[in-house]
Amino acid sequence: MRWEGRDGVDDGQVVRRHNLASVLRELRAAGPRSRARIAAETGLTRAAVTSLVGELLALGLVRETQGQGAGHGGGGQALELDGRLTGLGVEVAVDHVTVLALDVRGEVLHTARTPLDVPHLGVTRGLDEVAAAVTAGLDAVATAASGHEVVGVTVGLPGLVETAPGALRHAPTLGWREVPIVDELAARLGPRRPPHLGADNAANLAALAEHATGSAAGVPDLVHITGETGVGGGIIADGGLLRGVGGYGGEIAHLPIGDPAHRCLCGRYGCWETAIGLPALLREVADPGDAVTDPHLDLPARLAEIRRRAELGDGRTLRGLDAIGTSLGVGAAILVDLLNPQVITLGGYFAVLGDLLHEPMAAELDKRAAVPGRGDCRVEPSVLGFTAACRGGALVALDAVLDDPGHLAPASGPDTVLAATPVAPAAPSPAGASPAGASATPGAPAPPTPPAAPTSPAATAAPAPNAPPRPAGGTA
Ligand SMILES: [Zn+2]
Repeated sequence: MRWEGRDGVDDGQVVRRHNLASVLRELRAAGPRSRARIAAETGLTRAAVTSLVGELLALGLVRETQGQGAGHGGGGQALELDGRLTGLGVEVAVDHVTVLALDVRGEVLHTARTPLDVPHLGVTRGLDEVAAAVTAGLDAVATAASGHEVVGVTVGLPGLVETAPGALRHAPTLGWREVPIVDELAARLGPRRPPHLGADNAANLAALAEHATGSAAGVPDLVHITGETGVGGGIIADGGLLRGVGGYGGEIAHLPIGDPAHRCLCGRYGCWETAIGLPALLREVADPGDAVTDPHLDLPARLAEIRRRAELGDGRTLRGLDAIGTSLGVGAAILVDLLNPQVITLGGYFAVLGDLLHEPMAAELDKRAAVPGRGDCRVEPSVLGFTAACRGGALVALDAVLDDPGHLAPASGPDTVLAATPVAPAAPSPAGASPAGASATPGAPAPPTPPAAPTSPAATAAPAPNAPPRPAGGTA
């Protein structure tokens, strides 16, 4: 079989990068494997697998393990993903910057939420704060005695993001326009910049997290709607994120289904966001001056107070929640008719108050959806809380590296990303084997496939959904 590079010329490095990713995918989906078994299951030759594994050992992406998974006459140590590989997800929101570090086994190593008035800070100081939060996250992971190391960072933003090259076009709630997020962050991080650095719409990242590990894990068709100051949407269709031609797919906040008297931060009138965003909730349940409307107070505490009032039967609160739930149902019916999802997941404050919003939302959805029985679509509050976008960011960062380990290889030769990896002597790479990443593009777009990081030992036994075609035979 002959493979061609992106420039149309035979390119051994492209083949090798593809094959490195195939081996990683196998280990990630199926768990520890001997070299022989990897060869049998990927269709690569044993010599090829030995060479590829040598490179992956040198990169610190896999490690030797005893016993399990050998099989097929493996006659030796099995290999597994190095569980210390860690992704960092960052969410930049109106009132906070949050980071979360997740290792490849799905364990959260670090999370920190910094309350900030991001629109007031402006772009430059806001980015300084983002860089500081990332640096603190890198420090937290590095100082954990476990030897974990961050291989990628993805920043989620509440607006239109072009994932390649990682630039924000417009985030109305932040007041940010045309910000080259990845470039700006790379400049601020300097030598601490991890191998992969990316940016994406925060709701897209949250949808990916819901699909990978959340309340709709594994559901191939879902819509995620998240509510904070702004409203975000992410659509998983047929197992993958629906990005559209420009990457802006899922931008549901500005559907013109709100009250035309209400001006949206985007400049239009009557956007859905004006009917269901956090300001709408606060307007409906409280008068100005009420403590629950005070942006300086912790949002979870304010939401808890709204819940308390609802449970006490406060009429104003109950009417407000009913109005928000009904407006949620109006838009949900459009999404159900348009996309026929199996599940709608609710994130942000919609998740926190999900049980209180469910009844009016469901009633309106049933009334308006043209699809019979709303296509059996369920509405599920997110179990990931306010961390969904960060989790998705961390997963996407890990995926970017595992799908193309070339991110980690310097032009001069394979490098060890994780320090002092205690492995048995690695099979040597053949002379002249070019480092896979020689042509890697820093900040390359996140992979279109959803993350599938195993979250438990049991999950590692599951076969990879949508496994890409496997190249047969040769090595690079
Ligand atoms: Zn709008």
